[in-house]
Amino acid sequence: MSLIEINNLTKKYNTGSAQGGELVTAVNNISLNIEQGEFITLMGQSGSGKSTLLTIIGGLNKPTHGNIIVDEIDIYKLSADALADFRREYIGFVFQAFQLIPYLTVIENIILPLAINNNYSRQEQTELAYSILEKVHLENKANRLINNLSGGEQQRVAIARSLINDPLIILADEPTGNLDSKTSLDIMNHFYDLNNEGKTIIIVTHNPELVNQCGLAGKYLVRNVQMEDGKLSLEPAGKKTEEVSV
Ligand code: ADP
Ligand code: MG
Repeated sequence: MSLIEINNLTKKYNTGSAQGGELVTAVNNISLNIEQGEFITLMGQSGSGKSTLLTIIGGLNKPTHGNIIVDEIDIYKLSADALADFRREYIGFVFQAFQLIPYLTVIENIILPLAINNNYSRQEQTELAYSILEKVHLENKANRLINNLSGGEQQRVAIARSLINDPLIILADEPTGNLDSKTSLDIMNHFYDLNNEGKTIIIVTHNPELVNQCGLAGKYLVRNVQMEDGKLSLEPAGKKTEEVSV
């Protein structure tokens, strides 16, 4: 079994008024298997369906047809509560616009996902947050307000927040889209480190050179997937992903 199995996935959005509106097919009958530990770069023009595919994989967007099996769980067959649990346990999301809460501190933002259903004391939450902040080298900014951080630092906080529940899968939607090239490379290197620690990563990016620069190039587990008009236009042969499945 692959970690993620995407089977004949289609997503149509109704873009018109409530009834009889126009349907847009954002994802059009996609099938794809992703192995644990892979680093997938998802590329394609604006509007090609990348964000839609990512949110479907992340359990945030129910497909119109098809299914997605993660770790043998058919996720959209779950109840709403079970799907929320699935997201918390399996998925870390990182967005282009960071989506942090500006009037909270770094630590407060990072522990926010723990607010629901957790058995940690405040002290334990803070210790956990510090240990994750060390991974992104921000432990010295733990008590700063988000507003007082640079864009690159904010994205590192967002990465740290995505890790708080130790998910198997990190989904990142153009995480370097708002950052200069040097900062983008730093962020990509953090994803590279996480992949080395065993996280499965799917990242939407417009910038394939970043992958080449940060040490991922030539890595056996990196796979580029191209989208065009809701379909996968390119899935290069010759990557030996089958050989890593367990
Ligand atoms: P990308 O991330 O590659 O730019 P998207 O997945 O955001 O692509 O969008 C794919 C298509 O679906 C586009 O035509 C877009 O306008 C449409 N779309 C995306 N989200 C919605 C939505 N919530 N409602 C209606 N149409 C949407
Ligand atoms: Mg998008």
